Amino acid sequence: MLTFQGKSVLVLGGSRGIGAAIVRRFAAEGAVVTFTYAGSRDAADQLASETGSKAVLTDSANRDDVITRVRESGPLDILVVNAGIAIFGDALEQDPDAIDRLFQINIQAPYHASVEAARQMPDGGRIIVIGSVNGDRMPVPGMASYAVSKSALQGLARGLARDFGPRGITINVVQPGPVDTDANPENGPMKDLMHSFMAIKRHGRPEEVAGMVAWLAGPEAGFVTGAMHTIDGAFGA
Ligand code: NDP
Repeated sequence: MLTFQGKSVLVLGGSRGIGAAIVRRFAAEGAVVTFTYAGSRDAADQLASETGSKAVLTDSANRDDVITRVRESGPLDILVVNAGIAIFGDALEQDPDAIDRLFQINIQAPYHASVEAARQMPDGGRIIVIGSVNGDRMPVPGMASYAVSKSALQGLARGLARDFGPRGITINVVQPGPVDTDANPENGPMKDLMHSFMAIKRHGRPEEVAGMVAWLAGPEAGFVTGAMHTIDGAFGA
């Protein structure tokens, strides 16, 4: 079904993992998709040629580049902010510049991209940000900066929903639990610990997250905004 026929979609961070599944989903449903990448040029080029989408180099750590990319993408029907990184380790040992870079990618880019997109977005547009169940629950040490960043997205969605609501523009956060990607491979060393927290004892698939994103972007979700949507096998329950 071509739910998104002709819709203009920008995915920030689309070259791999969950972002690539989101690009595939929108392209398969008829959207005109542009996605950004930072380090994975080969993967980006391959995905672009496979899906008929357009790959553009934009580092989400650079606020002005993100704003320019969104502005130059023209009026977007749908913005998805997926790019995100994690830093693991003792908070007392971590490089503050690295932590600030995480905040730039995980908090500042979603905020500025959402605001910039809303300037040109038609009424009824959709903004979806990929957060994490760690915005609600952080059961292990060493990931406080990541938890901070994903909790911040909750405030972003609640606040901007008020700003954009009068134009029918929705903004929502999708909060995955463990999903099988390069960042969190199902066969990694944390598998048993993570699955011990879950009711469904497996990693999620990127396509499952893309399905939730597509629903939020679709015609049935026009009354859903300022909300968090967890998809985590009950990791956070
Ligand atoms: P991956 O590391 O597998 O992929 C990350 C994607 O984001 C890549 O396409 C990467 O592009 C892009 N990206 C990273 N940094 C930048 C940057 N500075 N500028 C532009 N693009 C960037 O991660 P996942 O697919 O696992 O995660 C995607 C999102 O889902 C993240 O926000 C993450 O926090 C969230 N999430 C993931 C979970 C999981 O278990 N996998 C669980 C909960 C949330 P490139 O390689 O080209 O730099």
